[in-house]
Amino acid sequence: MRRSLLAILVMVGVVTTVAVNEARQDRAALTVLELDDNLFMLANAPSVQGMGGGGNTAIFVTSDGVTLVDTKIKGYGTDILGAVREITDKPVTTIINTHTHWDHTGANAEFPESVNIVVHQNTAANLRSDDCDDGSGFQGGSIKNCDAFKGENARFLPDETFSDRMTVHSGADSIDLYYFGRGHTDGDTFVVFREARVMHTGDMMARKGLPYLDVPSSNGSATEFGKTLTKAAAGISGVDRVIPGHNPVPLPWQDFVDYGGFYNDVVAKAEAGKAAGRSVDEVVSSYSVPSQYSEYVAAEDRLRATVQYLYDGQ
Ligand SMILES: [Zn+2]
Repeated sequence: MRRSLLAILVMVGVVTTVAVNEARQDRAALTVLELDDNLFMLANAPSVQGMGGGGNTAIFVTSDGVTLVDTKIKGYGTDILGAVREITDKPVTTIINTHTHWDHTGANAEFPESVNIVVHQNTAANLRSDDCDDGSGFQGGSIKNCDAFKGENARFLPDETFSDRMTVHSGADSIDLYYFGRGHTDGDTFVVFREARVMHTGDMMARKGLPYLDVPSSNGSATEFGKTLTKAAAGISGVDRVIPGHNPVPLPWQDFVDYGGFYNDVVAKAEAGKAAGRSVDEVVSSYSVPSQYSEYVAAEDRLRATVQYLYDGQ
């Protein structure tokens, strides 16, 4: 018999908030959103500003266990498991990470060693990398989080990888993983919950704004980012809603399609500017968001970084 889920979800929010207020002020409050009978989104509470707990986690209840997509920032394993326990008693069996970053793989090592961790092969290489001294200093570590999996913690490195496409589980539990090329990093996976018609985009669409492009540490690419979005929009079907990497609520599929249009318009303007001999500054100062993408934000620092990478062919 199914309990009153709405009531449970409200309780999770309250309990988490209280816990944070009283005992764990260093951690941000989280909210559980129900997207389908067996699919939930664990997001920062609406009151949380900035990075909060990190990227959005998907909680997917299968016939024999729970699959998580992304594990937020180091230290959030207890909060994630607490949210899972309000939904089901089943064990966490699988973790899929959309990419290598510290705010998406942070709590991987806080789940049992038996959990099957699935990532794109380039993300596995990033997590296994010995080149972790990138100076980014997130929680004292690297942005690609490879220093978190050294020594004893190497046992929490990915168990399974794929190159282009992979299906995790079967039947109604099927989760389709897609890789279409470089973008935010060089190992960004689009995760489609087939039956629920929902896709986790990771940071290929963090929110409705220009992306952070991790060119320096994780081999992301400004020139490929838009192409990868275009391929994903064309190559994936049967999705109605997306869980963005950081947006506090899910968004319609059309917003994901438009996100590619918004980004590729920046690419076109940068290419035209470069061809006309204009400077990066001139392209940035003359840029305006096209009216059909008016809900999308081009913060000046992100715009400048993106145009500079495009000028440099990166
Ligand atoms: Zn990221």
